[in-house]
Amino acid sequence: MYPVTYFRAQSVAEAVALLGANPEAMPLAGGMTLIPTLKQRLASPSHLVDLMRISALHGIAFESGVLRIGAATSHAVVAESPLVRKVIPALATLASLIGDAQIRHRGTIGGSIANNDPAADYPGAILGLNATIITDRREIPADDFFTGMFSTALAPDEIIVAVQFSQPHRAVYLKHRHPASGYAVVGVFLADTSAGARIALTGAAPCVMRWTAAEARLVAPEDWSSSNFEGLSLESYHLNDDLGATAAYRAHLAGVLLRRAIVQLADVSEPAGH
Ligand SMILES: Cc1cc2nc3c(=O)[nH]c(=O)nc-3n(C[C@H](O)[C@H](O)[C@H](O)COP(=O)(O)OP(=O)(O)OC[C@H]3O[C@@H](n4cnc5c(N)ncnc54)[C@H](O)[C@@H]3O)c2cc1C
Repeated sequence: MYPVTYFRAQSVAEAVALLGANPEAMPLAGGMTLIPTLKQRLASPSHLVDLMRISALHGIAFESGVLRIGAATSHAVVAESPLVRKVIPALATLASLIGDAQIRHRGTIGGSIANNDPAADYPGAILGLNATIITDRREIPADDFFTGMFSTALAPDEIIVAVQFSQPHRAVYLKHRHPASGYAVVGVFLADTSAGARIALTGAAPCVMRWTAAEARLVAPEDWSSSNFEGLSLESYHLNDDLGATAAYRAHLAGVLLRRAIVQLADVSEPAGH
């Protein structure tokens, strides 16, 4: 055992002040990643600042076409939310596919994206839907948030308060699960948005990424067909190559999942108002 001081913050301001005053402190959300990391001595913070009792970090709301999910909202709450299922069903599906029941009941959306595991599911949706990350001090567009393997644009004392999603016309998330953990060997998030097609890949590379060459093929309505991806390849990208899967296998999987996603997308009806 090594000493660590535990704080239970009651407000965002208090949590930020505690983190600012203690440079070796870390925020704690569901603890599903951080606690095993501490047990393995891969991190040794002086203080843990528990965010889970901060009411401003909980809840789901939909207003003026924007879905807002509090950072401390668990994967299970997102998966089961009638609002999320109605506004962005693919997001509820994604949350339902994370890990197992225990992980989904403890793990949070804020913890998942702050951690930015290369095989995590939520980063795919955040990038695929061009979400906005709301922190205690600024708004960060998805394209600027994920900066590399396990790294983000967050400052050490910065807290994610919520994530905001504009409602897409349609979206689909498909992943090939690692059989032991449920993490994505490859996950494809395909979204048809008012700004055009967005395709995010998770699990494939050291950091979640957009597949821009595939997006560029989806311009006119008739382009949204699996036959339109002939000759498309991920081989020039630097993909993960490890015990779980070779880079060539991941490249193949991404193509298969994208084709399946486009077929499924044809069955997703657009929400009212589009
Ligand atoms: C066995 C197992 C299987 C899993 N399977 C999957 C899977 O299939 N798919 C998947 O996506 N994930 C999976 N996970 C990870 C899971 O989703 C975690 O919930 C997630 O990675 C971290 O969320 P958390 O709330 O537990 O964060 P914590 O573990 O508490 O924190 C993680 C990191 O985020 C920071 N942090 C937390 N909240 C905030 C905040 N609001 N602002 C700033 N920083 C913050 C912490 O300081 C820490 O660095 C799995 C985990 C395990 C243990």
